Amino acid sequence: MTGVVPALGRTALITGIGGQDGSYLAEHLLDKGYRVVGVVRRGSAVPARIAHIRSRIELSDVDLLDEGRIADLLLAVRPQEVYNLAGHSFVPSSWERSDLMADVTGLAPARLLEAIRTTDPAIRFYQASTSEIFGNALESPQSETTPVNPRNPYGAAKAFAHFSTVNAREGLGLFAVSGILYNHESPRRGLEFVSRKVTDAAARISLGMADSLAMGNLDAQRDWGFAGDYIRAMWLMLQQDAPRDYVIASGTLHSVRDLCRVAFAHMGLDYERHVKIDPSLVRPAETVRLVGDPSRARRDLGWEPAMLFDHLIAMMVDADVERYRNGRAHVGQPEPGAG
Ligand code: NDP
Repeated sequence: MTGVVPALGRTALITGIGGQDGSYLAEHLLDKGYRVVGVVRRGSAVPARIAHIRSRIELSDVDLLDEGRIADLLLAVRPQEVYNLAGHSFVPSSWERSDLMADVTGLAPARLLEAIRTTDPAIRFYQASTSEIFGNALESPQSETTPVNPRNPYGAAKAFAHFSTVNAREGLGLFAVSGILYNHESPRRGLEFVSRKVTDAAARISLGMADSLAMGNLDAQRDWGFAGDYIRAMWLMLQQDAPRDYVIASGTLHSVRDLCRVAFAHMGLDYERHVKIDPSLVRPAETVRLVGDPSRARRDLGWEPAMLFDHLIAMMVDADVERYRNGRAHVGQPEPGAG
């Protein structure tokens, strides 16, 4: 890794700080001595995922659809680094309001970049891009040079944001990078995501609170990693001498069946006795597999994912069991010992 800037005394602004990645990134930057300022939605309570670090961060409720307020915020906060993590991250719901998706996930990054250009072009900008920009992928595994080919409103909005970032870098000379991240999970993942759905069910079934779990296609495959590893890559990207886009992935595919098997086995259960196939949940299998090639990140950033799949899933199940045992109903609360 080259060009690492000393962190002490630096200020980072994180949009979406109350989300899974935002909460881990905030912890990471605090540990490095950053002053951390987070953007949350107007009127929302302090998100559960950052309650444990609330006293160590500053929060601002600026609307990401309001370019003037974003510029004012940058002038007030004076960050050296901006991490744009805000967005609607659940792909299926993107079909319901693709206009909203385009606004928050697609246009807000362009507004942020414009505000950076007009207030302080020295700010380093990270855009939370996604493997969904490859959509119906034209090759597998995918790398930074794979053609973008999104196939849902989420991927299309992220593709716009991705190219806005590329254009800001190449056309305006900003230090703007896009991290093309594959699925990453943690005990702070929302319950609507398949990983969390399975670990939560394994926990409830093991505690006698439920008996079965309805699932769709168990043969669907994903490239899964740990959010705590992936946010390290975000930070590393902004510490380089030159801005570049990076694929961040485990490079390994696991099936939903693997996920169920590992999660249930961790609690001494046989998934085949509890997982029931619900035909209404079955979706057509992808023709080309979405699996990332993180070679560039490995080479330039020295980045490697530290946590393996089985350990990640076991950790999520443990956190869910702990949460139910302690009567902590909220899924977003940090796991014991966090922060
Ligand atoms: P989360 O859904 O956990 O967090 C997203 C955050 O964005 C939430 O805090 C949410 O706030 C906030 N947000 C949503 N809409 C708005 C809005 N209009 N104004 C301000 N804030 C808003 O996602 P992750 O942390 O998992 O992901 C972070 C980013 O990385 C997202 O952009 C996601 O699309 C992207 N990404 C994630 C991947 C993953 O596997 N996790 C893979 C690839 C990319 P609230 O809590 O109020 O809803």
